[in-house]
Amino acid sequence: VFKGVSPRVSMPGPRKYVFVTGGVMSGLGKGVITASIAKLLRASGLNALPMKIDPYINVDAGTMNPIVHGEVYVTQDGGECDMDLGTYERFLGVDLTKDHNMTTGQVYRSVIDAERRGEYLGECVQIIPHVTNEVKRRLRGLAERRGLDVLVVESGGTVGDIEGLPYLEAFRQMRAEDGRDNTMFVHVTWGPVLPSVGEFKTKPTQHSVQELRRIGIQPDVIVVRSSSPMPEDAKRKIALYTNVEQDAVFSSPDLETIYEVPLVLEGQGFMRAVERDLKLGPLNPNLDDWRRIVEPFKAKAPQLRIAMVGKYSKLADSYVSVNQSLHHAAARLGVKLSIEWLDSERYELEPRELEALREYDGVLIPGGFGRRGSEGMIAAADYARRNMIPFLGICFGFQLAAVSFARHVAGLDGANSTELDPSTPHPVVDLLPEQRGIDRMGGTMRLGAHEIEIVPGTAARTIYGSDRIIRRHRHRYEVNPDYVSKLEESGLVFSAFSDSRRRAEILEVPGHPFFMATQYHLEFSSRPWEPEPLFTAFVAAAHASAHGKKETHALTTAG
Ligand code: GLN
Repeated sequence: VFKGVSPRVSMPGPRKYVFVTGGVMSGLGKGVITASIAKLLRASGLNALPMKIDPYINVDAGTMNPIVHGEVYVTQDGGECDMDLGTYERFLGVDLTKDHNMTTGQVYRSVIDAERRGEYLGECVQIIPHVTNEVKRRLRGLAERRGLDVLVVESGGTVGDIEGLPYLEAFRQMRAEDGRDNTMFVHVTWGPVLPSVGEFKTKPTQHSVQELRRIGIQPDVIVVRSSSPMPEDAKRKIALYTNVEQDAVFSSPDLETIYEVPLVLEGQGFMRAVERDLKLGPLNPNLDDWRRIVEPFKAKAPQLRIAMVGKYSKLADSYVSVNQSLHHAAARLGVKLSIEWLDSERYELEPRELEALREYDGVLIPGGFGRRGSEGMIAAADYARRNMIPFLGICFGFQLAAVSFARHVAGLDGANSTELDPSTPHPVVDLLPEQRGIDRMGGTMRLGAHEIEIVPGTAARTIYGSDRIIRRHRHRYEVNPDYVSKLEESGLVFSAFSDSRRRAEILEVPGHPFFMATQYHLEFSSRPWEPEPLFTAFVAAAHASAHGKKETHALTTAG
């Protein structure tokens, strides 16, 4: 099994830094490039890890809108982090800690706290040097604590953004202070292809590099994202105009799967550039395992359809870890699936629309917050249960599945979560006791890894093949312990608990092809080479259901 860690080569001397900046526009997949660089370094035997800088003033991603910023990724140690940390973990197989995500909020908070403590007495506290020093202190501190050979630093946003300037200035200073051989600048840009003439345009890259140089940074490597591979003459042109060696200009075209990116970069000799810039090497990444892992992810026609029912259905990044986990499970089973987003609010306006769920092979209700769309999700859970459609609920989806069962099977009319209806007669889901009295929003949920005990003789026990798992959490509400036995008397099974059996973690409906839900976020524990077992079981059930549908179809059309 691939673990992402190769035998260490010893590297005497100072720690090294690769800085990844972005140009032209955001959303180019800089996180994937950063993860791929760390992957190639680790596959070469170096102890390299990535980290992400977010230039916004939020202290962490927990208070941001997932529709705009993508999902909040929860680390083992309970950090509410940028979704790129999920990409890193899925490429590297290393559990990162929250200090792998730095935000302007954290940096300014430290500087202002130090000022209040009187650490800068008599000084005028400024962006240079106080903020830039704090940035450098954090980068070097992380590299030191982890004993890294190379820290790969991804800077969020685009060169030229006002928010990002202090970070670029800190990187510039580190080149001077840590040395040319210990710092490497990778700039990621976009190469559009004009649809009319099919010409590959290099001008956006040229302008973006000019902007970077104006700030005092000359890139060592340029990675150009584009829809199709960049032609050699475009590489030549970019090299000429940006003062970068032609063999240090790399093409990163759209691929069948993001997991191929390290292979495509190395195929163009990426490590030759690293050897040259960081005076390392020779670096010969061993990518045999990775090639084997990537193969099943390559394109095939989708054989089954999963409906994702929720309210944050606009931006695919809102649930990137759930999407990836489903694809990991499908790859493991040798199938391909498509994921379609259904807005649960439509079931509230038009309950008959629920019938459309029949077309899907599985229904998934992911995490979420707040009232909007929740009645539709409760109805969708009930529809999947009654119509034997494989169902998986995660966190909010778990809580609403419990509410749905309470109303429709246990006969508890008006049952609800107190998050959605504070005066419900049956608070089947209620605030965690330790959450009472908490009025601050940031970082105050039940977060991070907790141990979970699985009840013998349950489907969960069979699927996990173990009595104990550790999974990540992010919630304020839980299934009310006062209702557990009442729901169980009506046939629901709570098959796992945490905190000495106080907290329900998994529910299942016996006799259904697959109806399971978890309080924990299993999507943060799935890796391409090791899908989370419950996802695999869900996709297997969906596949069986798709197969069944096809057979029924064949029978009816033959008859
Ligand atoms: N809103 C629910 C809670 O706070 C679920 C949270 C989630 O899905 N992450 O418990």
